[in-house]
Amino acid sequence: MSKKNNTPQDPACAACKVAIRKRACVTPGGVGGVGCPTQEQAQALEAANAKYDDPQLMEFARQASLQEAACYVNRDQRPYVLQPSKTRIQEIWEFAHRMGYTKVGLAFCLGLVNEAAKVEQMFKSHGLEVVSALCKAGATPKEMLGLGDEDKVRQGGFESVCNPVFQAELMNRAGTQLNVLLGLCVGHDSLFFAHAKAPSTVLAVKDRVTGHNPLAAVYLSDGYYAKLKEADSQGSDELL
Ligand code: SF4
Repeated sequence: MSKKNNTPQDPACAACKVAIRKRACVTPGGVGGVGCPTQEQAQALEAANAKYDDPQLMEFARQASLQEAACYVNRDQRPYVLQPSKTRIQEIWEFAHRMGYTKVGLAFCLGLVNEAAKVEQMFKSHGLEVVSALCKAGATPKEMLGLGDEDKVRQGGFESVCNPVFQAELMNRAGTQLNVLLGLCVGHDSLFFAHAKAPSTVLAVKDRVTGHNPLAAVYLSDGYYAKLKEADSQGSDELL
């Protein structure tokens, strides 16, 4: 199905109703969903895949794919039932080793200082040099962003802005080869990604309510968190 001007329909894979093993993107000759990019976006695919002509991009992608497979054991078994074997933090340091990286950046949130200390030690114990920067580093006042006292978390005093641009600048100047985000807020993480020179990955995202497990709310969205699915945000605001 195409738009009136003959440009392809925007992809909507999240709404695809085709059984997973029968999907065109999973099985050659499979079926596509509405607006299927596998079947309708040949030009975009060609443009994207041409970018792998860059040897650096190709190697990064190749190692990422190798690391993906290495996260499962007994892959020679038939029929194969997924047997994942590695935590994400292990995945990160193994990928760093695969790429020959020795210096990683750890950009973390004030709310996860204890976790950051443990992560730093783990990375170090696996042979990585760690450059770390807390979100509040620089102690830039929130007033720089035009915010007032009513916009602060703790009102009535000084409050540092979370400064992911500064975190990224610190990583850039230190020459980190891979940055790891730990608990940055929504939007702050976006700014870090936009300003960091080295590739960045995420160890954990912040979720203040679920112990940094945002999918807990998704898993419970047919039950205790059903209000998250309502257009009316009043209930959602109560939960969040
Ligand atoms: S690429 Fe096509 S088949 Fe695969 S999920 Fe998207 S719409 Fe469905």
